[in-house]
Amino acid sequence: MAWMCSGNTNDELVDNLVKAHIISSNQVISAMRAVDRAHFSKQYPYEDSPQGIGYGATISAPHMHGYALEGLLQYLKPGMRALDVGSGSGYLTACMASMVGDSGHVVGIDHIPELTSQSLVDLRAHYPEWINDGRIEIVTGDGRKGYKEGAPYDCIHVGAAAPAKPIELLAQLKAPGRMFVPVGINNQYIVVYNKDSNGNVTEERVMGVRYVPLTDAAVQFMG
Ligand code: SAH
Repeated sequence: MAWMCSGNTNDELVDNLVKAHIISSNQVISAMRAVDRAHFSKQYPYEDSPQGIGYGATISAPHMHGYALEGLLQYLKPGMRALDVGSGSGYLTACMASMVGDSGHVVGIDHIPELTSQSLVDLRAHYPEWINDGRIEIVTGDGRKGYKEGAPYDCIHVGAAAPAKPIELLAQLKAPGRMFVPVGINNQYIVVYNKDSNGNVTEERVMGVRYVPLTDAAVQFMG
């Protein structure tokens, strides 16, 4: 059903993600209704496909954002702390902020300064309260190292593929905590890492995917 959820409006897109059983919880449905994808994607915002946002980056497809938010649901409760690595357009960071509420905190990190500044412009324009109350923090830096200043996190979402198990990021997860991350070079899979309350980590391959890689900024610019 993935890739088949396009609509003419944000609500139609969300309705189609529900019909396809990609999203089902009230929290994710309300977050995806509250955050209009058109604020973050200039072209074809309601198509269920990735769209270019410049600088070798894309806003991921709505069905992948839906799977990610559902997968992290238990770790995006009000008051929780989340890290969005490769935050790009800022769309998913905003959905996460909607879920964790005003007592929660979400850090979005991307290594392309033009993307972090554009995402801040869009977030300020449409969700100024989330920037003003400090609920969302957008930083420029190498997300492969996470963002220690905001750690530990209840959950980490990674929007670009890690070549192998992301050890440094796992160290920044709370116990318990969860990470949703594409892993692999040629064959990529979404891997969900669960850290239990004793700090033991287990992993589960969820589905095959194609994401842009986590890389060096210079490499990404060269395309
Ligand atoms: N989740 C975002 C963007 C997905 S595209 C969205 O849906 O809008 C992947 C993003 O990862 C791009 O914005 C790219 O700039 C970023 N990225 C790639 N390597 C990175 C790295 N080492 N550190 C931080 N961000 C990185």
